[in-house]
Amino acid sequence: MSREIRERLARYGIRAKKGLGQNFLVDKQYVQKIIDAAQLQAGSVVVEIGPGPATLTPYLAQEVGSSGKVIAIEVDEALRELLTDFASEFPQVKIHWQDALQVDYDQLTEPYLPPGGSFVLVANLPYYITTPIIMHLLESKFSYSHLVVMVQKEVAQRIVSPPGNKNYGALSVAVQFHCHVDLVTTVPPGAFVPAPKVSSAVVRLERRKVPPVSLLDERYFFQTVRAAFNQRRKTLLNALSSLDTKLTKAELASLLANKNIDPTRRGETLSLDEFAIVANALTEVKK
Ligand code: SAM
Repeated sequence: MSREIRERLARYGIRAKKGLGQNFLVDKQYVQKIIDAAQLQAGSVVVEIGPGPATLTPYLAQEVGSSGKVIAIEVDEALRELLTDFASEFPQVKIHWQDALQVDYDQLTEPYLPPGGSFVLVANLPYYITTPIIMHLLESKFSYSHLVVMVQKEVAQRIVSPPGNKNYGALSVAVQFHCHVDLVTTVPPGAFVPAPKVSSAVVRLERRKVPPVSLLDERYFFQTVRAAFNQRRKTLLNALSSLDTKLTKAELASLLANKNIDPTRRGETLSLDEFAIVANALTEVKK
């Protein structure tokens, strides 16, 4: 696969652009792991962010068949000729030229989905905007069923981390609030051309059908989470003092204690449930 991709790049005179996070996946074994985790069927609608020189795209097209659709979003105009030639061989592939951060994914997929249907998102993400892209998809609550994405290994560790771990942070809480998370595989630098400096990993994020916790105010919940992690070395009490709670420190301490949460704990030890308890109690006070 490595030779085939190198030859394709050479034929179209394309050199990988570091600034656009272009590290192309050329090891078939990891392509297959991504395809397996995507669990596509004939007729599925799949969105791919950053097809690059069409490394994953033909495999996606094969899985969804002629009754499905692959919408590949690419921003690099230098790939236009290559991807246009590629798409002419696969009628089910549509190339959409736009910055993935600006895309309205529901508007993009709606023409191909049955009413109430959902799409699958698959991507070897450009690493310079991994987290903003994932958060754009989750926070906008677009109609995805699951995402299978390649990210830097340390981002994957943060996404799947349980409480109490050094990798646990606001990203873990945010992603785990919206999705069930799984680490599919880690991927060594040698699987890419050119090889990145860091290791990578594939994660599968499956949309939760019901929220894991019930919240009085989702925005305030995330503000609370961010405040708790902003100063990781501080106690929960001190970290939450930066929030506009209308409480004195002593009142905040007793609110936490009343909810059976020791104010001297660090934010990174709190589970999603405990963050919800704290945020809901603070929301009640603010009313
Ligand atoms: N899918 C190919 C693969 O697996 O080998 C390429 C993956 S490469 C890591 C990331 C791709 O995302 C590149 O093709 C790059 O041009 C594209 N890209 C970078 N920034 C983007 C953006 N803001 N919106 C859409 N695509 C982007």
